Amino acid sequence: MSINQKVGFVFRQENCVGCGACTVACQIHNELPENHRFRKVDRYEVEREDGAIDVWLSHSCMHCENPACLMVCPAKAYHVRDDGIVVLDREKCTGCGLCATACPYSAVSIREDDGKADKCNMCVELLDRGMKPACVTGCPVQCIETGNIDEVLKKPSASKEGVGYGDCITKPNMVIIKERA
Ligand code: SF4
Ligand code: SF4
Repeated sequence: MSINQKVGFVFRQENCVGCGACTVACQIHNELPENHRFRKVDRYEVEREDGAIDVWLSHSCMHCENPACLMVCPAKAYHVRDDGIVVLDREKCTGCGLCATACPYSAVSIREDDGKADKCNMCVELLDRGMKPACVTGCPVQCIETGNIDEVLKKPSASKEGVGYGDCITKPNMVIIKERA
């Protein structure tokens, strides 16, 4: 299958207030156990001229162009859709855990309830019906969106670098917008 788009998450880091509503919306939509999270929100303390401030990073699977999870999976449980979204088929997963070890963004973990890997599939079942992922609609200050990463990267304020986030060999498809909406 040819990849004709690179759909990824777009995160407006300057807007994030660290409330964690995205994490909860994702857990509810995906019916995850209480202790299992696809999306996490990390706090960083950043020194600025007028003193230290808290900066938050909301992150999940980066839907990488070179997905390490897919490359190491012996069960071929991962595939890349033609829009670039990296999807895990849990029916095929044997629970070996290689993908969880290989992912540089800690985006995969093994579920305690069934011993299989699980991760964010960008709510493709919603996207395919013209709807938005649960984290996007769950954020009260609209700091998460999805978009064509190549197009979004044309904005001067967009890059693959942010507080707590950076590009790497797997070519993550998450873009940080460094300006307030
Ligand atoms: S972030 Fe991790 S799980 Fe997601 S596509 Fe990249 S390597 Fe795979
Ligand atoms: S819901 Fe929005 S503001 Fe709240 S932590 Fe998530 S991304 Fe940040």
